[in-house]
Amino acid sequence: MADEVLLAARNVTKRFGGLAAVNDVSVDLWRGRIHAVIGPNGAGKSTLTNLLSGDLPPTTGSIELAGVDVTGRNPERISRAGLGRSYQKTNIFLPFTVWENVRLAAQSRAQHPASVLRRATAFTETNERAARALDLAGLAARRDAIAGTISHGEQRQLEIAMTLATAPHVLLLDEPLAGMGTAEAERMVGLLQRLKAEHAILLVEHDMDAVFALADRLTVMVNGQVIATGTPDAIRADAGVQAAYLGE
Ligand code: ADP
Ligand code: MG
Repeated sequence: MADEVLLAARNVTKRFGGLAAVNDVSVDLWRGRIHAVIGPNGAGKSTLTNLLSGDLPPTTGSIELAGVDVTGRNPERISRAGLGRSYQKTNIFLPFTVWENVRLAAQSRAQHPASVLRRATAFTETNERAARALDLAGLAARRDAIAGTISHGEQRQLEIAMTLATAPHVLLLDEPLAGMGTAEAERMVGLLQRLKAEHAILLVEHDMDAVFALADRLTVMVNGQVIATGTPDAIRADAGVQAAYLGE
């Protein structure tokens, strides 16, 4: 199961009118690896994430998930096929507890079987999936806290727990460290390191310390286009990347 491409995007392009927000981008996501996408605001990073998750259909190009062509499928089907994503804006229901939020996210993945016995089994499985997600995200101790009262960093952890509750193989994370202080950011880096073993991860992030600590490969986007892709060392040494982005 190791060393396996779980998601492959081939030459995807997204045009909004005359603007190519994502222009002929290809990316492979491997189980056990973190692939970071960096670039200035407006580079097309979030649009790329939306293409991979099915939230937006690509204008051209194709996307394979675990060897199956999912191009143009809706986000629910892509989610059921094993892709989980977090959003730049949070999806948390603030009046509910941490547990209730994760339980609801786990429920969204559950089937609705006909027999009482199967429903009981599904109920237990959903609880177990939610509990595992909460634990993995490091929030077990905050289970009964009202989501609106926990810290910003914990809310971002909760969002990851909600994504994990759908039992994804591929994780798309759009700026998981946004707005975090140093201690919170370090905790999130530790969490992403733990998640890496079991998942293929696409990480869109502006925090370069975190990116270079976590990424196995990097793609640098500017104006919708990939200007460089490679290992962290190669990207750090790339003069074009320095000029276009890192040197800012
Ligand atoms: P990033 O996440 O790298 O900051 P985005 O993917 O959000 O960049 O945006 C890339 C470009 O596409 C920007 O110029 C943005 O204004 C444009 N864009 C994004 N979404 C839409 C949309 N739904 N309609 C029109 N233009 C959009
Ligand atoms: Mg963005």
